[in-house]
Amino acid sequence: MNTIVLEGGCHCGAIRYRVEGPLPESGYCHCRDCQQTSGSAAQVWMDVEIENFKLTKGTPSIYESSETGRRNYCSNCGSQLFFSSLDEPDFVFPHVGCLDDPNLIQPASHIWTDRQIGWFKLDDDLPRYARDIPEEE
Ligand SMILES: [Zn+2]
Ligand SMILES: [Zn+2]
Repeated sequence: MNTIVLEGGCHCGAIRYRVEGPLPESGYCHCRDCQQTSGSAAQVWMDVEIENFKLTKGTPSIYESSETGRRNYCSNCGSQLFFSSLDEPDFVFPHVGCLDDPNLIQPASHIWTDRQIGWFKLDDDLPRYARDIPEEE
């Protein structure tokens, strides 16, 4: 299995992280929580096993965006670095925009498309899910 190293951090540089492992899966989330907390049309996340994720500098603050959802952000500059969930304690979901090189990641799906903003047009052929990606059987 090919190992990739990804580094990222917040806008002011107080918080840095490193991902080392298989290439993470990635996708767009169009849910209202992602729209509001990012202030953007969607959030682009990737899917990283927690053992492959390491904070290398600083400590994020945590905003509880839902009963189980946690937005980990820099309290100095406000960058949202990654999402985590009490429902999926073995994973973290770093936000691709905070990578040093976001081009290393290729989003492969859209979730919560029933909340997609009407003017946000994307001409890709990626799979679209009205809500979350269905659980694998
Ligand atoms: Zn910062
Ligand atoms: Zn979302």
